[in-house]
Amino acid sequence: MSDWLITPIEYLKGVGPQRADLLKKELRIYQFEHLLYHFPFRYVDRSVHHKVKELLELEGFAQLKGRIIDISETGTKQKRLTVKFQDETGMIDLVWFQGAKWMKSQLHIGKEYQVFGKVKIYGNKWNIPHPEIVAIEDIKINKGLQSVYNSTEKLVSKGLHTRGLETLCLNLLNQINGNIYETLPPYILKRKNLMPLAEALKNIHFPESQIQLERAQYRLKFEELFYLQLELLLRKELSLKRTKGIKINKVGKYFNEFYEHHLPFQLTNAQKKVIKEIHQDFLSGKHMNRLLQGDVGSGKTLVALMSMLLMIGNGYQTAIIAPTEILANQHFVGFTELLEPLGIKVDILTGSVSKKRRELIHENLRNGNTHILVGTHALLEDVVQFSNLGYVVIDEQHRFGVAQRAKMWKKNTKPPHILIMTATPIPRTLAMTFYGDLEVSVIDELPPGRKAINTFHKTESARLSVLGFIREQISFGRQIYIVYPLIRESETLDYMNLMEGFEAISRTFPLPEFKVSIVHGQMKAKDKDFEMQRFVRGETQIMVATTVIEVGVNVPNASVMLIESSERFGLSQLHQLRGRVGRGAEKSYCILMSGNKLSKESKKRIQTMVRTQDGFEIAEVDMEIRGPGDILGTQQSGMLDLKIADLSRDAEIVTEARNLAKKILGSTPELEGVENEILRIQLKKKLKNKPNWSKIS
Ligand code: ADP
Ligand code: MG
Repeated sequence: MSDWLITPIEYLKGVGPQRADLLKKELRIYQFEHLLYHFPFRYVDRSVHHKVKELLELEGFAQLKGRIIDISETGTKQKRLTVKFQDETGMIDLVWFQGAKWMKSQLHIGKEYQVFGKVKIYGNKWNIPHPEIVAIEDIKINKGLQSVYNSTEKLVSKGLHTRGLETLCLNLLNQINGNIYETLPPYILKRKNLMPLAEALKNIHFPESQIQLERAQYRLKFEELFYLQLELLLRKELSLKRTKGIKINKVGKYFNEFYEHHLPFQLTNAQKKVIKEIHQDFLSGKHMNRLLQGDVGSGKTLVALMSMLLMIGNGYQTAIIAPTEILANQHFVGFTELLEPLGIKVDILTGSVSKKRRELIHENLRNGNTHILVGTHALLEDVVQFSNLGYVVIDEQHRFGVAQRAKMWKKNTKPPHILIMTATPIPRTLAMTFYGDLEVSVIDELPPGRKAINTFHKTESARLSVLGFIREQISFGRQIYIVYPLIRESETLDYMNLMEGFEAISRTFPLPEFKVSIVHGQMKAKDKDFEMQRFVRGETQIMVATTVIEVGVNVPNASVMLIESSERFGLSQLHQLRGRVGRGAEKSYCILMSGNKLSKESKKRIQTMVRTQDGFEIAEVDMEIRGPGDILGTQQSGMLDLKIADLSRDAEIVTEARNLAKKILGSTPELEGVENEILRIQLKKKLKNKPNWSKIS
């Protein structure tokens, strides 16, 4: 490892103590290495000239060629210089707030200049504040691509705007003078035809050409993703080796009896496949950490239930954790109904269970009377002790992080097997990274009889006809969901929205013909459940709700999902909501109501919903719009800490990097051999910088 990498940033030409302090505070640049890896976030092409006329459509930087036709200085104390600059297509103001006097002395009316800067709107006019300006006669070479760096207000005040940072990078490259040591072994460079590191770092800051820049970016992205995958795969291996899992040795009576006598319908092939995969894990003696992805309505619950029967048949207890009380209740009711005939005892534990009942539940868990515990997060608490917990299913919580998983582990001397189920399809690349240490199963088939859901986008002007449509559906004996958005900032406002909607609906559909249920976040769990059950039993025709019904609720007779202010919902939420219908009714509909004015993103979300019902396609678009960080939650995406690669855009590189990492570990599981020395060194270095990773799984 080369020493200069860890040289304190103060030692760089152009960085004094003051600037060093700021660089540390603002950009966390402490050492040479950090600056070297402070990559530009984009590039501007200095070889093209724009026209003044085009500037309105241009966002950001522009380069112009033209003449100065007027120079004026205004202001008394604080001077301000305004220069009228013209090309064949129009005129724009160049403005200086600082150094006006000096600048004025440099510029000449009538002379031809090249101007480069960021176009801004000021007052009502477009202008370019503090541009770079050079007389055409002084231009020696035309610059090509120029880097743009992230900076901050404080840094700018010390001259470290993007240009200032560029100069520092230039000084840095000169100072280390090509002394950059390669961080990938030669055989990988050759196999993947990668640019050497020294060249890549030079080109990432000072691209020689578009092609060189792309090669540099590719090289750096590949390296970043490759080491990440290597680390994840190693971790997975390690935890498999280290952790002995609970091993079962028979199918057991419950599974067989259920399969033969109580199965309510034929399993889909996908369900069978996944049950088999889980069974294999149980038999293997390895500890299972499995992610089950299956679109809304694909029948994950039954997979959970049947795999639980395998465990129970071998003398173990099981648990399932749901994200909401409503869902936990629904599982409880469903499980009890299906399993009571087998003599299996199911119990439920949520936040709203009374203290007295809770003690009884704890007691039954400890003495092993309870076979299946259904619950919410309350189940994670340390007071909840099992006699012999073998298997935990986590339903619909793709944010269920490593910390929570670890909590479940502690509930038995040998850690219980874990299955995480999610209908939010996680884009493949994200699954490969964030869940890189899990096995993945997919249910890629819906039960037979599912109908396509006709999806429409409607605005306020169509409300009457939408209401007419709903009335008609109800007259056919169908049920309707009407969902209102949840605005985090103001619960009261949410509530008002919802109540207004509720009243409007009640007025439109007067009793006794129609009955309306209502469910929202501020209701007590008991009341929510009561309302929910009325709807489930068909006693009410319309369910007015906030997103609490988002996941899991199952009412096959419901045929319309009407989503109010649909522009406020995220894509995966919309998809989840739509999945509540199309479960039995002849024909189902999803109506997305929105205002007339939509942002680009809202439009894209709604259009995607109208276009497709494919959960994976929707997930990809979602990740494109929101970025992976948002999907996982910042805390977890921070664990990935990617400098240059982007999981949504660089899907192909993720796959390539993972494949290569797999191949290498396949032939050299501990990265043995001289040819892998660089890999060992780099990996060690990276792990040292991620302390919390070493404790995981
Ligand atoms: P999700 O995967 O969204 O959790 P569920 O497990 O709630 O889906 O299943 C949705 C509906 O499909 C339920 O009513 C369930 O009973 C039904 N179902 C599950 N598997 C099958 C199957 N193989 N054939 C027919 N219906 C099924
Ligand atoms: Mg479900």
